[in-house]
Parts: sequence; C-alpha cells; structure tokens
Amino acid sequence: MIKIDNLWKNYGNHTAVKAINLEIEKGEIVGLLGPNGAGKSTTMNIITGYISATEGSVSIDGFDILKSPIQAKKRIGYLPEIPPLYTDMTVEEYLIFVSKLKKVEKNKSKEHIDTILESIKLTDVRKRLIKNLSKGYKQRVGLAQAIVGNPEVLILDEPTVGLDPKQIIEIRDLISKLGKEHTIILSSHILSEVSAICDRVVIINKGSIVAEGTPEDLSHKLSCGTKIALRIKSSKAEADEVIKNIPYINSITDDGIKEPNTIDLIVEGKEDYDLREDLFNAFSKANIPLLMMKPLNLTLEEIFLEVTDESKEVSSNVANIK
Ligand code: ADP
Ligand code: MG
Repeated sequence: MIKIDNLWKNYGNHTAVKAINLEIEKGEIVGLLGPNGAGKSTTMNIITGYISATEGSVSIDGFDILKSPIQAKKRIGYLPEIPPLYTDMTVEEYLIFVSKLKKVEKNKSKEHIDTILESIKLTDVRKRLIKNLSKGYKQRVGLAQAIVGNPEVLILDEPTVGLDPKQIIEIRDLISKLGKEHTIILSSHILSEVSAICDRVVIINKGSIVAEGTPEDLSHKLSCGTKIALRIKSSKAEADEVIKNIPYINSITDDGIKEPNTIDLIVEGKEDYDLREDLFNAFSKANIPLLMMKPLNLTLEEIFLEVTDESKEVSSNVANIK
C-alpha cells in the first residue's frame, strides 16, 4: 500500500533521513519509533508530499507522491505534529471546511461529517469553538480532519504527545479502532505506545532504520534467546557441577544470591540451542530443586536503548533484567 524507496533528505549539509526503505501492507499499523530528531517527522512529511525528498520515491497504492500527487494525496489523511486547526471555527465548521478542501461530494458531506463526529466521539462538542476545547479534544479534531474523505492511509505524527494519561488511552483506542479500516503509520518516541497499538515497529535513529519487526519479534531478535536465568536451591559449587555435564553450554555467569540458600546463574547455550530441557533433567537427576528458569528476552525499552545508543552493550542490559 505504501512503498518508500531509498529516501534521503538533506537540510543544507545536515542529512535528516538516510536511505530509508519501507513497504507497508494494506491494513497494517506501523509505528515509527525514535528519539527526538531521529527523522520521523521529516519522513512523514515526505510520505504525505508536504516536503520533497532529496532522493528516493514514495508511492501510495501505486501512485507516486510527486508524479501523481492528486491520486496519491487523495488516499492519505495526515495528522501533523502540530494539527492545522482553525481555532476560531467550531468543530463542525472546521470539518465542513476540510471536507470542501478534500472535495468530498457536497450532498454526502453532512452525513460523512456526522459519521466522523460520532466515531471520534466529538458529537457533543460539535458546536464548540476549537480554541475552547481541551488538548485531548483538539487532538481528536486533528484525527477527525485526517479521516475526512475516508482516505485509506493515515499518517499520524506523535498523535498522543502532550496528552494526559487518560487522553492518551482514549486516542490510542481510537487509533486501534481506525486501524481496522485504514493503513496507519504513526510516529512516537514512546515505546509502550507503539507496542500497544502497532503490528510492526520500525526503529529510526539519526535518519536510518536500525531495527524492524513486530514488538515480539524485535524483543526476540535482539534478545539473547539462548540465555536463561536460573535460581537453584544449592551452593554455587553444586550447581556448577551439574551444569558442567550439560553439552552445548557456552557460558555460565554468577548472578548473585537473591534468596537465602539459593544461587542465581545465567547460562548461555551455544548458538540457538535451547537448554531448558537439559537443565531441567540434569537438576532433577541430581535432586537439586530448580526454583526458576526464565529465558532472557530484552524488553522493547532495552532494545530501543540498544539500537539507539551505541555505548550500551547487550550484555549489560541482560544483566539488568531481574
Ligand atoms: P523527529 O520528528 O524524529 O523528532 P525531525 O524529522 O523533526 O525528527 O528532524 C530530523 C532532523 O532534521 C533533526 O536534526 C532536525 O533538527 C532536522 N530538521 C528538521 N526539519 C528541519 C528544517 N526544516 N531545516 C533544517 N533542519 C531540520
Ligand atoms: Mg517529529
């Protein structure tokens, strides 16, 4: 549905977007995740045709955003970082204005706006001036203008930024609902947000894609899938003796004592070998209770730090997981 091909953007001699390639299927909700300045807004501004790329192309449903802008833009609803609201209009006046801009057929416009007001839960404030609305409601108006004309694709730039926790949940729920009928790209610098809403997460740092996958994928891909945390009711020496005889062990790290009379260890299997059965069998044969066995996957939070901060090491993250 959306094809982004080798996108570059320079602002003077500063490169904000570097070689971004991304394909998004119809119906997907994709989250662009990255710290401030990563290039999220720039990428979205190019996808929507708001600014041009230095190099590369974007097509929406097969229509190139530069060569067939009318066809391409008709398919896009955009909620920019700062929603383009006319605050002296009422909600309804503003949506009528937007539907004229988007050339919604006149005789269908009223019904269309009613449906949107209803689905974005704005019906109660339709006659209110936008400037008198709370930030959460203003953001809903921003979402409402994006879906005027019923575009297939929604591009939402930091849709929950500046909202309070209750408003964040409301907007998130709205986006999830919209995701049933639209292809959505949203940006955020908040992990919990993208992992809650998105089917796929694309992590951007300094203008480049540094990791990509489902939230689960990412956490698995970058995890030490073969590392397992153990709590063993024995001394370190006894535990070592048992583990020593298990094949495919790469390393054993002492993780300290967290409960009396136990020892915590982190064992790592060779390559992708899953050690769990061997560990279970060996300890039970030795009559030593294994009180805990937990694969160590990085949380999305840690992956984010991992791929956006070169100074961080995977091992130090893993050691921090308790
Ligand atoms: P994000 O949305 O991820 O926070 P942006 O796309 O807004 O990041 O910005 C990416 C980089 O490009 C930043 O370093 C920013 O300072 C720079 N930048 C963005 N817009 C402009 C502009 N109009 N002129 C010059 N530099 C810009
Ligand atoms: Mg931004």
